[in-house]
This record gives sequence, C-alpha cells and structure tokens, in this order.
Amino acid sequence: MLKTGYGGSGDGSSPLKLFTNAKKKINSIYGDIGKYVGDFEKFTEKVKTSEEKELIEKDLDDHIVTCLQKVSGIRDMLLRDHMKVVFFGRTSNGKSTVINAMLCDKILPSGLGHTTNCFLSIEGCKDKDGAYLLCAGSDEKRNVQSVSQLGHALSQESMSNDSLIRIMWPKNKCTLLKHEVVLVDSPGIDVTEDMDNWIDQYCLDADVFVLVANAESTLMLAEKKFFHKVNTRLSKPNIFILNNRWDASAAEPELMEQVRAQHLKRGISFLADELGVVSAQQAEDRVFFVSAKEALNARLQKLRGMPESGGALAEGFKARLLEFCTFEHNFEECISRSATRTKFHQHTQGAQSIVDSFTEYASNLLDKASNMKAECDGCNEEVELKIAFIEKNIKLLTAQVKEAITRLVEETEFQVRQAMSDEIRRLSLLVDEFDKPFHQNQMVLQVYKDELYRHVEEVLGRNLATRCSASLKIQINLSKERMVKEAQPLFDCKSNGNETQLQIPESTFEVSYDINCSNLCSDFREDIEFKFSLGFRCLINRFIGGRRPLAVSDSPVPRPLPTSQEMTPRQSDGTSMEDVAWGIAAGYIKTKGKNSASLALGVVMVPYALYKTVGWRILVFGVASYGALYLYERLTWTSRAQEKALKRQFVEHASEKLDLVTSFTSSNCSHQVQQELSTGFAQICHKVDEINKELRAESEDLKSKSDRLAALQSELKTLRNKAHFLSSDIGGFVANYLKMDL
Ligand code: GDP
Repeated sequence: MLKTGYGGSGDGSSPLKLFTNAKKKINSIYGDIGKYVGDFEKFTEKVKTSEEKELIEKDLDDHIVTCLQKVSGIRDMLLRDHMKVVFFGRTSNGKSTVINAMLCDKILPSGLGHTTNCFLSIEGCKDKDGAYLLCAGSDEKRNVQSVSQLGHALSQESMSNDSLIRIMWPKNKCTLLKHEVVLVDSPGIDVTEDMDNWIDQYCLDADVFVLVANAESTLMLAEKKFFHKVNTRLSKPNIFILNNRWDASAAEPELMEQVRAQHLKRGISFLADELGVVSAQQAEDRVFFVSAKEALNARLQKLRGMPESGGALAEGFKARLLEFCTFEHNFEECISRSATRTKFHQHTQGAQSIVDSFTEYASNLLDKASNMKAECDGCNEEVELKIAFIEKNIKLLTAQVKEAITRLVEETEFQVRQAMSDEIRRLSLLVDEFDKPFHQNQMVLQVYKDELYRHVEEVLGRNLATRCSASLKIQINLSKERMVKEAQPLFDCKSNGNETQLQIPESTFEVSYDINCSNLCSDFREDIEFKFSLGFRCLINRFIGGRRPLAVSDSPVPRPLPTSQEMTPRQSDGTSMEDVAWGIAAGYIKTKGKNSASLALGVVMVPYALYKTVGWRILVFGVASYGALYLYERLTWTSRAQEKALKRQFVEHASEKLDLVTSFTSSNCSHQVQQELSTGFAQICHKVDEINKELRAESEDLKSKSDRLAALQSELKTLRNKAHFLSSDIGGFVANYLKMDL
C-alpha cells in the first residue's frame, strides 16, 4: 500500500530504479563491448605483424575502428540519457505546484505574479555545484539560493515562450532528480498558437506528458488540440491527466462524485477513444484527482517535522494525498519503463549488432586459421614422409653403390693386370720398334737408354690406355648414370616443388697408369762386352748353369700389392742379393781355377791326351776351327749386335720389373676408379643431403607455423566465446529491462 509521503520518502523501492539500473547495466555492457573490441584490435595488430597476416582483411580493421567510435559515441550518449516528463496545461492550473510537490520542495515559484512565460527544466546536478540557472544560448552559470531568488531571476529574463531556462538543482535534494528525471514546465498552453514548434523543441524526446487540468472546469479545446498534435508526431505518447485543485470539490461534497465520474469519463474517452494511446481500462490508471497544493504543503510540513495536514484537516485531504502518491507511483513506473524501452532499445540493438559482427569475424577467422593449420599439418606430413623416404633410400642406395663400386674396382684391377701382362709379353716387340742411333760410348749410350725408357713408358702407357681407358670410362659413366637414375627419386623430393633433373658435373676422368720406366730401370746395367761363346769363362758359366731367366709373373688376380721392399728390389748401392750370390760363386770358381793344381794339370793333360788319341792333324784342325770361330764371333760383335744384346737385356730386366709393379699399377688404377665413383656418389649424397636439410628446415617452419596457428585458434575461440558471453548478457538485459510487462 502506498504511503501518503511517497514523493519525499527515500527511494528504496522506487520504480525509477529500473531506468537507472538499466542505464548502469547497458553502460557496463558497452564498457565490456569496448574492451572486447579493444582486445580484438590488439589481436589483429598482433596477427598483422606475424607471418599469418593474410588472415586479417582490410575490412576488419575498418570495422574495428567504426565500432570503437560507435561504442564511445553511445557511451557518451548514455551519460546524457535521462527520463523526461513535460507538464502541460493552461496557465495557473498548478503545473509549477505539481512539480514542486513531486520534488518535495518549492523550487519553481508559483502563484500570482509568477506565471511561467517560457519553458523551465529542472535537472539534477552535482551537490557541490549548488543550484544554478543556465539560460538559453548561454553557458553562464547563475547561482540561485532560494525560490524568491529564482523567481526574481526569472522575472528579470525577457524570454520568448519557446525558449528554455535550465534550473540545475542538487540531485540529493530530490529523489526524482537523483534518478535522472528531468521535469519540464511549460508556459500555459493557452498562451501560444505555435504548438508545433513546442513539440519539435521539447516534446519529441519526452517519455511522459502530464496534462495538469483544472478540476473545476472541463478539458479545454486548446489542451486537447495540443495532445492531438503530439499524438501525430509520437507513437503512443504516455499521457497522464491530473485534475488538479480537487480540494476545491470538498466545498461541494454532494456534487463531488458526479463531477469526478464526469471528468474521469471524459479523460478516459480522450485518452482511449480520441487519442487511442491506451485502452479504456489502462486509461483509468492515467486520470487522477489531486490537490498539488495540499500535497506540496503536506510534504513540506513533514520535512519540517510537523503534521502533514498542517493542523486543519480539510475534507478528503488524505484521499487526495493518497491519489497524488498513486499518480506519482504510476508515473514513475510508466516513465521508467518507457524511458528504458525507448532509450535503450536502440542501444541494445546496436550492441547486439556489434557483438554479432565480431562473433562472425571470430568464427570466420577461426575457420580460416583451422583450414590453414590443417593445410600446414598436411604439408608437414608430406615433408616428413619425404624425409623418411630419403633417409631410408639413401641407405639402400649407398649399399647398392658400394657394391657396384667394389665390382667395378675388381673388374678394373683385373682388366689392368691382364693388359699389363699382355704388354709385358709384347715388350720385346715394343723395344725392337725403338730405332734411335746406338753407340757404345758411355755418354751416347746413356742418352740412348733414357730415350728407350721414355719410348717404353710412352708406348706402354698408350697401349694400356687404348686397351683399358675407353672401356673404363664407359663403365664409369654408366655407373654414374645408374647412380643418378637411382638417386633421382630422392632429388624429386625437393622442397620447392620445382623438380629438375639431378645433375653431377661432367667427368673428365682419365686413368693414369703411372709407369715410370726410368725409375723402374734405374738399376739396369747392360753388359755389351765381347764374350767368346766357347771361351773358358762362358764354358765354366755354362757348365755351372746360366743366370736364372726372368719369369713373367703368373700370379693369380687379385694378388696383394708389392711391399715397399719388393717395390725396390735393388739395394742402395745398386747390387742385388742375387748378384752378390753370383759374385761369390764366380769368385769361388776363379779361386778354384787358379789355385787348383789338379785343374792345371787337367788343362795340360787334356790336349796331350787328345793329341795321343786323335793325332796332330785333327788337333790342328780343331785349334784352327776354334780360332776361326773366335775370329768370326769377334768380327760379328758389331754395334748392331751390341744394341740387340742391350735390348734383349733390357727386355729381360724391364719385364721382371714391370711384372713386379703390375699388381701395384692395377691397384692404383682401380683405386682411381674407386675415387672417381666415390667422388661422384659423394656429390649426389651432398645434393641429397642439401635437399634433406631443406626439407627439415621446411618441416620446422611448418611445425612452428602450425603451433602459431594453434595459438591463434585458441585466442580466436576465446574471442568467440567472449562474444557469445556478451550476446547472452545483452539477451539478459533485454529480458530484464525491455520485455517486461507493463
Ligand atoms: P501554473 O501557472 O500552472 O504553473 O500554476 P501555479 O502552480 O503557479 O499555480 C497557480 C495558483 O494555483 C497558485 O496560487 C497555486 O497556489 C494555486 N494552486 C495550485 N494548485 C492548487 C491546488 O491544488 N489547489 C488550490 N486550491 N490551489 C492551487
């Protein structure tokens, strides 16, 4: 039940709280939206400086800027939002008195001599500022301390009836002002014909209109006309009709009910039928019979701690006061809901559209980031497969190539050994081809020998090259081609996708046989002194046995390389062990030949025995033949014969030496082939390794990109969830403040 002291009794249960709470809430929602858009902006700025900048499109930047401006604009607007009630009625109907009663204070001057001749608004201001006036077109604050001062100030102003004076009154003094209600008093509706101008200037943002009528008369045409005009400009304006001065009816109690019923009927008919702003039933709650004067006095009395009635209790005072309170309650409910709805409905829609747009942006970005991550992970999987493929196949390829190289190396060794053996066998022919002039003079002979070595070296090298090099080159190239072909699939794994043919530099490989004849034959000592074939020494030598003939090595292939000692069969002084043995043997024979008496006896006794046996003729013939043979051999021991002997000795010597180095040369050649192929394969491995490195780097890049995208996804999910949370907050606001039943 309403208490008669409603207007001045605190604001614990005031319906006006709906507006202030709604304002606070929508303001906080906009605050959250502003923060959210700020977070979104930070997120986009961060992404724009990262490698994923393609995620952010230009329109998002523009949208963020627009929304931030919009949010800030709406928050400013919210600060200025208030509830507005405009009081209309003919002059002296008691508009100012009603306003004062509602504010529980004599703020507006009323009564005779204080007719309001312009619009006056009463707004709350900060308590510390105190009361002041703001006149139309001026920002100058004019302090007023009392009603009389205000009345005096207002009477000083020569204002047109459509101008406005704003009275700023400390909020804490009045509950309505505290709840951001702005009350506007108008000049008497009967003083102007220019109602349209009034409506344009002061009524379009009004939440409630209060028509202060005089209960002692009926609604005048001017009053009705004004509200008809308002009704055409605003959709279903909230109008209250206060039949003021109802205390006067107490003087005629017998007519009171009849007059009340008549006024009520006309009021309801005006609101429901003529204007159509409410139903007839609702209209009953919009028409009141009050005495503003009594209400004001009662409240002032109460504030002073005096009885509300002021001592003399007029007839029906309590009922009128209660009805005034009922009016106030209905008015507060109506203005609060209406203002909340009209003021915040649009803001709610604006907030929802901002939040929806960011929900969409966050979802789209999330989809985009998810697609990019999936693509990135797919690429990385592909790259990792390539790496695994390369690592597995390079091992297989290495094993294959190793085997192939070993095979070719063995083949080369065999081929070169075979070729050298053949050449050694043909060495005498090769030496015979040498036809440089020969002379037994030591110096000329040395030149001859040097030339011979060079000739052998050249021709032998050429022959070996002809026999082996071409086929070796072909086999090497074939092996290389095979390597390249086998490695091509690995090369095809190249990360940049530009698959090209694997190439290794063209080989200019030539097998070097490295037969240094001069070195090999440095110990060669020719023996071209004349030796009679039936001479005593020759016979003895023949009797003991000739020098061991040089044998062509027939050792099987492969065989171990000669050791360094074997490679230098001559000792440092140029005498072989064999020669030393022969020397000792010859010395022994010589010693035996000189010192043995029996041998000397034999030498004398043999011719004597022959003489006795065959006779002197045969002996002379024998001696003559012996001498002739000696002469023949001595005469035929020409330079040509000496050259032949030298060549024969050289062939024997060189064959033996070459035979000794065959193994070494063939190993050397096979080693060269091995080197060549290994180098080629190493080049391939190097290139494959580079590809592998590239792929690993690419995989690392893709992994870190995927991680970054995962982080972005999580941030975007948070942003999307925040948008959903804001959206439900707005939904809650709509349900709590905008969809309430009246
Ligand atoms: P306005 O011109 O419409 O603002 O009217 P005022 O508020 O200035 O009031 C004009 C005169 O009517 C003043 O003398 C008031 O005291 C008086 N008045 C206002 N309300 C009532 C009321 O309810 N009963 C009586 N008897 N007089 C009132």
